[in-house]
Amino acid sequence: MPLHILDHPLAAHIITHLRDKTTKPATFRTLAYQISLLLAIESTADLPTEDKAIETPLEKMTGQVLAHQPLVVVPILRAGLGMVQPFTDIFPEVTVGYIGLERDHTTAVARSYYCKLPQLAGKRVFVIDPMLATGGSAANALSVVKQHGATNPTLVCIVSSPEGVAEVEKVHPGTTIHTAAHDRALNAKKYILPGLGDFGDRLYGT
Ligand code: URA
Repeated sequence: MPLHILDHPLAAHIITHLRDKTTKPATFRTLAYQISLLLAIESTADLPTEDKAIETPLEKMTGQVLAHQPLVVVPILRAGLGMVQPFTDIFPEVTVGYIGLERDHTTAVARSYYCKLPQLAGKRVFVIDPMLATGGSAANALSVVKQHGATNPTLVCIVSSPEGVAEVEKVHPGTTIHTAAHDRALNAKKYILPGLGDFGDRLYGT
């Protein structure tokens, strides 16, 4: 299964500050934006392009532009919202769908409370969720986007666990996953170690 781990000194720098428990929500939001921008760029590296004939001020040439395949980004609420803006900034035409899954803090089981998606057939779909912990939410969201017509949706997260990656591979074999850090394990409460704590809480200061 294709697991792509960001390998860049800037990504390591940003992730370290995200992990630091003294990082306050305002800085955390900025760092979340920056790492998500790197992930948005990396996860779209295989987008198709087409030739375009242009003239520079000096001569004619054939350049490449993005081919017209509609992109859809689907954040898993609520933490996924912290990763949306980089996608909309670099792909202004992107459509945003929403899947609301809430993680029960005691059982760690995902409960669906909201779903708003366009038709996804023929579109390139990116499910975004910062923390791939048990993989339950991600697997659930991938099933939902496939039910809406998505083929080969890509999963983009900031921190992943071996357990989460294995669960996604079990339920959706062959899914491409992009992550900025692949951590050691889950603890008894299903938090990622070393991780960065509860992403949503740190993003919103709750
Ligand atoms: N969700 C989080 O926000 N953090 C974890 O470590 C696991 C799930």
